[in-house]
Amino acid sequence: MKHGGMASGAIERVVIVGGGTAGWMAAAALGAYLAGAGTRITLIESSEIGTIGVGEATIPTIRRFYAALGMTDAEVMRACEATAKLGIRFVDWKPGTSFVHPFGRFGQDLRGIDFHQYWQKARQAGRAAPLEEYSLGAMLAREGHASVPLPNPPSQLSVFDWALHFDAARFAAHMRAYAERAGVARIDARITDVTLHGETGFIEAVTLDSGERVAGDLFVDCSGFRGLLIGEALGTPYRDWSHWLLCDGAFAVQSERVGEPPSCTTVTARTAGWQWRIPLRSREGNGLVFASDFQGDDEARAELLANIPGAPTMEPRRLRFTPGRREVAWARNCVSLGLASGFLEPLESTSIALIETGIERLKQLFPDKGFDPAVIAEYNAQSAEEMERVRDFILLHYHLSTRDGPFWQACREMTLPDSLAAKLELWRARGAFLRYRWEMFSPASWLAIYGGFEHLPERLDPGVAAVGTDELAQGLEQMRAAIARTVADTPTHSEFLATVDGAA
Ligand code: FAD
Repeated sequence: MKHGGMASGAIERVVIVGGGTAGWMAAAALGAYLAGAGTRITLIESSEIGTIGVGEATIPTIRRFYAALGMTDAEVMRACEATAKLGIRFVDWKPGTSFVHPFGRFGQDLRGIDFHQYWQKARQAGRAAPLEEYSLGAMLAREGHASVPLPNPPSQLSVFDWALHFDAARFAAHMRAYAERAGVARIDARITDVTLHGETGFIEAVTLDSGERVAGDLFVDCSGFRGLLIGEALGTPYRDWSHWLLCDGAFAVQSERVGEPPSCTTVTARTAGWQWRIPLRSREGNGLVFASDFQGDDEARAELLANIPGAPTMEPRRLRFTPGRREVAWARNCVSLGLASGFLEPLESTSIALIETGIERLKQLFPDKGFDPAVIAEYNAQSAEEMERVRDFILLHYHLSTRDGPFWQACREMTLPDSLAAKLELWRARGAFLRYRWEMFSPASWLAIYGGFEHLPERLDPGVAAVGTDELAQGLEQMRAAIARTVADTPTHSEFLATVDGAA
């Protein structure tokens, strides 16, 4: 474009600001996407400032992200200390119980009617096992097994998916190596100034502490929470959701690994938030996400350290955040990704997934010439809706929790967003799932949470009347037993990791 961001020419220079997970994922994906297009991509990061250094649990989309770059699971897993993640195990959200949210489905539908309708009928008659026993993914995760799903599952009972737990720094390094091979140039320097075009307000260039000026046509802001370009330079407001998501910080600590690594992330409810446990190959990542209005730092830190299975290998790090999103993710010639675009607590491991969808959306809408407002508006609408849907899903967990204490009571008593209230209403009225555009979580995920909390509809699909209770109980038992047999025949997580190593 090279004329001060007048919003009309081809995008010849892309400048990515930030070299955390977001920056290097964007660099790798855009490097591949723009290969041969004559576009120069430069990434600026400051090793002095560093990265946030957390973000170790993913959802299965990450595997499709790197597969699109030609990387295999074995290659990424070996490079990043990775273990397999088949779901998230929620402990004590309903006191004294635990349940798994798997990447997969529950049971087998019958005569066009959802499985959960039959399960609920049998449950009301006292003839059903807990929901997770009808999910292969949940049972593999609960029992510490892992395998690669069959490419063409013979039945709905065989459907599951998997993701990774990985060392975030190693993953960023792996992305960086790919991006640099694809021709992305890297500059290690601190940005000290951002120049905007006098008329358009577009970003023209950033100035480095070396005095060098790096000009660009499109800027991708991956600078972390501060949002150096999207927030500080362009003044895009931040929509604060802390009246809904009360947690505003965390302590994070790594520890020695103890025992066999589970094939799931564990999230345990605590006094004013929750604790994560993420198993890697040779260590574990732990953290306590909490609400500072309800728990002081000393108490939170002590609660975390008292509940770590292995010895900590570092001092806990304090992180602070404001849940919410940028009013717009794309402003003028700047697209924000990662923490610069907003943040939702990592209860469902969605931040890296939101980076992936942001990159994918940018590719889908990448301007051929200039910056058409229609393109920017669509990007922003999709990003906003997607993040709101994730917010609602996270809120659901707090809303349904039956824990005692001021924090948990405040979570239950708040006024929910209308979008979530409408979902809950339809679930109550008919056991049906209200679906909006850009949902990251399918009905099976919502069912996992509803079922885990035993928040179940009174009213059933009238079609389930056609199957008698005895017949139903027998059918359910066959499903449960088939899943239990498959789990017993599946390698343990450690055996699976050994196979992965052998395949690399
Ligand atoms: P950062 O890692 O902060 O990178 C910012 C980059 O910008 C750095 O390279 C920095 O040097 C650079 N930069 C900043 N200012 C300048 C400047 N002036 N000049 C030059 N460079 C600059 N996500 C998940 O998906 N799963 C999880 O389990 C998970 N757990 C989390 C737990 C916590 C407590 C938190 C807070 C987040 C978690 N996340 C998780 C989110 C995840 O960590 C981030 O989404 C991810 O790391 C991306 O961060 P980033 O690249 O946007 O920012």
